[in-house]
Amino acid sequence: MSSKQSPSYPDFREELALLPLFDHHCHGVVPKDLSRADFEAMISESSRPAPEGLTCFDSQLGFQVLAKCAPILGAQPWCSPEEYLGQRRQLGAAEANSRLLQASQLTDLGVDTGFSPDVITPADELGRISGTTPHEVVRLEYLAEQVAQEFLSPGAPQEADGALARKFLDALAVRLSDALRGAIGVKSIAAYRIGLDFEAARPTTEEVLESAQYFLRGTAPLRLADPVLIRYLLWLAIDAGQVIQLHIGYGDDDVDLHRCNPLLLTELFRLSRDTGAHFTLLHCYPYHREAGYLAHVFEHVYFDVGLAINYTGSRSDAVIAESLELAPFGKILFSTDAFGLAELYYLGAELYRDGLAQALAEFHDFHGWPKEQCLRVARMISYDNAARVYGTD
Ligand SMILES: [Zn+2]
Repeated sequence: MSSKQSPSYPDFREELALLPLFDHHCHGVVPKDLSRADFEAMISESSRPAPEGLTCFDSQLGFQVLAKCAPILGAQPWCSPEEYLGQRRQLGAAEANSRLLQASQLTDLGVDTGFSPDVITPADELGRISGTTPHEVVRLEYLAEQVAQEFLSPGAPQEADGALARKFLDALAVRLSDALRGAIGVKSIAAYRIGLDFEAARPTTEEVLESAQYFLRGTAPLRLADPVLIRYLLWLAIDAGQVIQLHIGYGDDDVDLHRCNPLLLTELFRLSRDTGAHFTLLHCYPYHREAGYLAHVFEHVYFDVGLAINYTGSRSDAVIAESLELAPFGKILFSTDAFGLAELYYLGAELYRDGLAQALAEFHDFHGWPKEQCLRVARMISYDNAARVYGTD
């Protein structure tokens, strides 16, 4: 029986809309008007456009845009992609972004500012448009690339490799601790750069120096994909007792998905117990059940199914229900992982509320969970867990 028929679904759905919602991992929106090709690129994780004669709108996510976002922008639900984008352009990007972000009814954002910062709004601007409190998350690989870039600039002193590497590592440590003063945590895209099957142990000083020298011999723009330096950054964050967001599972086509199973991090989680650091595993699909297991056995591991909620659309209720299987309720988080399009915020929040309301209504109607317990769980996942682990309370 579909839980949509659960008698108490409408009641739970209404209650969920009243809860504060902490989107602990997201990015800015594009402030300019978008061509159809640009828009389609942002509703797909592929780096290529849809093949000739096909469109990215013919997908779970594309259908949700036409069904749910169209009325927010003043178009008919299930209008054509042309009508939708025509209406979006007529309103202008600023108005469309504002309507969709306001309608998302989010309260707090954890904003990763290290991915394409030149094309999207910064965290404070995003907070202003959406009427939310933005909290910055520092992307480790991006920070290291920025600092290294300064050592490559023509004005930088030419020194022996070893001395320069030492200076770079010192500067990196200072910049990280400066950045962390205004941030709630860090993010690593180790999954994209080296896969998650890396050695878990802290690298030695000699290894790090050697890798830093090698990295600084590169030419601009630098791209950090050195396993030793990425492990070094992770351990800097662990030693600082940070909350560390990790990309897990599904993502763009430059990820090797089979190397993004979070179980590959089991040893890292063992070694980092009792350090004060916490890990928040992002997206996780299709490994959200593995993530749920890890959140169950490791007290410092949390996870979400953001991104997967948007991309699985009408099936996201199943993914959300699966995320409630093994994980303790105090270890599940909410995120949209919205990037570029305000639509992704709105759909991420709405589909989350729909799916969670369905799961809880079913637990209530068919398994006897008291309503107040269901709503307590909803509040934990929507807000309290993130506020506690990131220390924003
Ligand atoms: Zn992201």
